[in-house]
Amino acid sequence: MKWYIMTDLEGACRVERWVQCDGSELHYERLEARRFITAEANATAAGIIDADPDADIVLWDGHGPGCIDPSLLDPRVSFIPHGWRIPAPFGLTSEFAGAFVLGTHSRAGTPNGCLAHTMAGNVIGYWLNGREIGELAGRMAMAGGLPDGPVPVLLVSGCNFACAEAHELVPEVLTVETKLSLAPERAQHRPPATVHAELRAQAAAAVHARDDIPPFVVPAPYTVRAKLTEGSSLDWYLRHPHTTRIDEQTAEQVTANLYETWI
Ligand SMILES: [Zn+2]
Repeated sequence: MKWYIMTDLEGACRVERWVQCDGSELHYERLEARRFITAEANATAAGIIDADPDADIVLWDGHGPGCIDPSLLDPRVSFIPHGWRIPAPFGLTSEFAGAFVLGTHSRAGTPNGCLAHTMAGNVIGYWLNGREIGELAGRMAMAGGLPDGPVPVLLVSGCNFACAEAHELVPEVLTVETKLSLAPERAQHRPPATVHAELRAQAAAAVHARDDIPPFVVPAPYTVRAKLTEGSSLDWYLRHPHTTRIDEQTAEQVTANLYETWI
């Protein structure tokens, strides 16, 4: 069967500061962070293959500047590198039996959420059909809204707050906590070996539980609202179709196509 892994970086074990996540490829802390999330991806792929030896696994690197080190990625995994340069839904189709979302951070405004944000640093809040969401909900909605049929997100890994967000969206989803968020750039990280063992075991369990974990489906039409910090420009949002200015800090888009939203 086909399985889809999407990775972000901010929620990985032993990642807790922006310098580890930004685009400066040569910074040693960033190179190290890429190794951390790649190891988590490999543990997840190993678990999927434990449960489905013929698994066809595709990994999309969903962190803006990229976060997977291809030289260290399990050679049994197909790979779509570097974030946002292809349009949504980023290689995911209804042919996939399930999706795995790794390295997840909490949404903008989460008190003491380590590296908490939604899309950009100047976003105060994001709403989808009236519900406040973060990037995780956006990605789960993307998987659940595919035109040829929904794909369930089976497993989410990330900080404790990100895992709590996952359970709010789909109570049955399996989660692996990588760390306890303590502050915007501080966390208590679990032992990586423990995290990797749990990822492998839970990924295998997720494959077996595939029929018991529902997709996250948000009915069309989609109303997406973004509120930015005072003084931020809304221009990027207003360039999108069906988008209007609500007030100086807020833009809203209403569309029947989830994949043309900002998510
Ligand atoms: Zn990211």
